[in-house]
Amino acid sequence: MKTHVRALVVGGGAVGTSIAYHLAKAGWEDVMLLERDELTSGSTWHAAGLLPLFNMSFATTHIHKYSVDFYKSLEAETGLNAGFSICGNLRMAQTQERMDEYMLYSSVAETADVYHEFLTPNEIKERWPLVRTDDLKGALFHPQDGYINPADVTMAMAKGARQRGVIIERKWQVDGYKWTGDHWEVTVTKMGERGGNLVATEETTVIHADHVVTATGNHAQRTAKLLGIKIPAIPVEHQFIVTEPDPALVEYRANGGAEHPVLRDADAKWYVREERGGWILGPYERGAPARFQYGVPDSFRADLFPLDLERIEEEYMAMIHRIPTSETVGLKDDFNGPICYTPDGNPLVGPAPGLRNMWLAEGFSFGITAAGGTGYYLAQMMVNGEAEIDMASLDPKRYGSWMTTDYAVKKNEECYEHVFILHHPDEEREAARPLRTSPVYDRQKKLGAQFGQVNGWERPNYYGPVDAPSSFDHDSRSFRRGAWWEYAVAEAKAVRETAGLIDATAFTKHIVKGPGATAFLDWFTTNKLPKVGRINLTYALTEAGTTRTEYTIVRLSEDEYYLVSAGAWTDYDADYLKKCIEDKEAEFGRIEMQNVTTQWGVFAIAGPKSRDILKEVIKDVDPETALSNKRFPWLSARQIELGMCPVNAIRVAYTGELGWELHHPIEMQNYLWDLLMPAMEKHGGKLVGARAQNWLRQEKSYRAFGTELGRDATPIEADLPRFVDLGKEFNGKAAMEKIGVRSKCVTLLIDGPADADPWGKEALRDLDGNYAGRLTSGGYSVAFGKQIGMGYVKPALAEIGTKLKVKIMGELWDATIVEDSPYDPTNANIRIDG
Ligand SMILES: Cc1cc2nc3c(=O)[nH]c(=O)nc-3n(C[C@H](O)[C@H](O)[C@H](O)COP(=O)(O)OP(=O)(O)OC[C@H]3O[C@@H](n4cnc5c(N)ncnc54)[C@H](O)[C@@H]3O)c2cc1C
Repeated sequence: MKTHVRALVVGGGAVGTSIAYHLAKAGWEDVMLLERDELTSGSTWHAAGLLPLFNMSFATTHIHKYSVDFYKSLEAETGLNAGFSICGNLRMAQTQERMDEYMLYSSVAETADVYHEFLTPNEIKERWPLVRTDDLKGALFHPQDGYINPADVTMAMAKGARQRGVIIERKWQVDGYKWTGDHWEVTVTKMGERGGNLVATEETTVIHADHVVTATGNHAQRTAKLLGIKIPAIPVEHQFIVTEPDPALVEYRANGGAEHPVLRDADAKWYVREERGGWILGPYERGAPARFQYGVPDSFRADLFPLDLERIEEEYMAMIHRIPTSETVGLKDDFNGPICYTPDGNPLVGPAPGLRNMWLAEGFSFGITAAGGTGYYLAQMMVNGEAEIDMASLDPKRYGSWMTTDYAVKKNEECYEHVFILHHPDEEREAARPLRTSPVYDRQKKLGAQFGQVNGWERPNYYGPVDAPSSFDHDSRSFRRGAWWEYAVAEAKAVRETAGLIDATAFTKHIVKGPGATAFLDWFTTNKLPKVGRINLTYALTEAGTTRTEYTIVRLSEDEYYLVSAGAWTDYDADYLKKCIEDKEAEFGRIEMQNVTTQWGVFAIAGPKSRDILKEVIKDVDPETALSNKRFPWLSARQIELGMCPVNAIRVAYTGELGWELHHPIEMQNYLWDLLMPAMEKHGGKLVGARAQNWLRQEKSYRAFGTELGRDATPIEADLPRFVDLGKEFNGKAAMEKIGVRSKCVTLLIDGPADADPWGKEALRDLDGNYAGRLTSGGYSVAFGKQIGMGYVKPALAEIGTKLKVKIMGELWDATIVEDSPYDPTNANIRIDG
């Protein structure tokens, strides 16, 4: 057995096999795949093999689309037929709300060039007469996907991999990982058979691998333990049943009727497809339990759980309703297997937290659909440094160290149950909440705060009616303007007209200090470093020259810096910062890094009255001038005292008004809140949530991390050259310059529908109807009284005044590219003195 390889892939399911194939295809030699049992003996063997293209995420849609296209090409390459039935996929809608979901999806699909059609109930009935349509509003049809045999497609990828030089070893289990500082030493044990069980033999060896990828499916918890990290991939039970042949279906097909597409009655939470004259019913029912949260027992091999028919009764009856001929057909077979989930349903793909050259590909619930694309994009990351799409939404570090087994169990069960619920863009899921609360949470709740969750933190999205029922937020969601909209409008107006107070406690905060700190940060970030007491906005790049993190940097002293970055990405940011410091300490000198996220609360106060409000409570020799432009200029930081609370105040406002961020000791948060509230009331200030803030920052063209800013674009493409000092050397600079400008970030004002705003997922077209780009943010502008959005367009179109069309709710609406910061372009409001 080969003991020195460039890349070792652990796990021979669909995902691991695809990764090995694509690493070889991308040019890596010496790739080896280890499987503890047989290829496909994990979840892959009992998957139903559906390949749905439908997905609301830009990255995942690309991944699924790649898979579907790739699987179509595999037979020509390998000579193996994987049974790909391109029968299409029909998602039915029982309600207008569901049609709205499909219309939003339709715009997303356009951004990834996924072909789809809308069908009326009559069109469905004409094509597939066995389907009952009298209570349907319509359907979304993907004619180009369908289903495949999961084992066969894995075997085809394995053959393709072997043809490209990959070594595949079966019956070898990975039992230990050790990083030598240069490569991984992976201890593996030969597995044997005893009494039908898979057992470890005495034979072991060590494989030396430059890179390791784990794709261990249901064994993710064991992998996590071996690596000493957390991986929130825990399986949930998932069943499907196979019926005896349905005589009506057999007759319909015998008379030349076309195969039914995979049918999805999303409102009834099931899918159905044809199987040898009968039907396969796959429900996503309530109450499916998580399994193996502490590891897969040795006795569980390619096994199944007993069928729980009672649990899926509702979905079973709903199938009979939709396909009446299935009522009298008996059950032939059933499958109840573990299907891996993560708290948000996205797999965990990318560098493992805290480890070098260790890549995770875990937690796949649509692993057959995602395998091809995951292999393709992960291989790009490993071979080229980055993938052509931003993989951050799949990054394993999007969950912090606060994440526990019980949290993952609760969220994964919820995620399973939510597969077919209406996914409103303003959706907030309820399980495992509240968990991470700032001290002021109860006070906010009493005042009507309707919370969202970011990185586990509870954060007000908006303040609804004080006496609202607990279901208010849930009931107010919509693909159009939810009932919350008017509250967010009032909040946004308050910031523009008086003042608003926003809880930004979730912000990620790091201290970087020590003799090497200045030289390091100068290399690590794109902008000039600020002088002591000043701040700047800056970017850390990937080695590939794209944006890894946006920081507001405060220089506390010559060699001490306070770095503020997005709240959703604490561990993601910390991991990169730490690894870069480790790499550069020898060159630059000692650097200390401390994650102080949970030690500091943050209130952002903004609006023309914000100075007056703070003056009421500031303790200073001269409170009247303490916050003046002279003593506290824009883009500077000062230590001030508000009542008895020491505050590190930063004069910035993400809403584009006069304002300060008040970073305060978390244990004094309630005190500070109680101090500020009367002053706020006196000056007509309002509590403001994240939704209004998101709209306001778009009026100022402030890019957000995870939308405009990510690993698929450089800061130059984000049109932020003023924060990039080309006169100095910084990490990723040469790569950034080499990329040039592939597309450019712009702000658009939109004359949209009366009842809906863009969500930042929509496609843009030019006036000839050609695809022109996509929105990455969207919302409503109170300053302009119309819809607003930010997004990326082809460079030739990125001119002020360019007219485009944006697809909202199935229709094209006029959009115009406007100057950066259309609201207060000279920043006069922000700089105002007083
Ligand atoms: C009933 C059911 C129906 C499904 N239907 C669909 C569907 O229609 N479409 C779809 O896309 N998905 C479907 N899925 C989900 C799909 O099965 C999984 O997402 C997919 O199989 C995951 O593939 P994987 O390679 O990540 O994991 P697995 O197939 O579980 O493979 C992991 C492999 O790693 C090996 N391994 C683990 N630890 C080690 C170790 N230490 N050393 C060596 N080897 C190790 C295991 O033996 C296993 O073979 C379904 C799942 C279920 C349960």
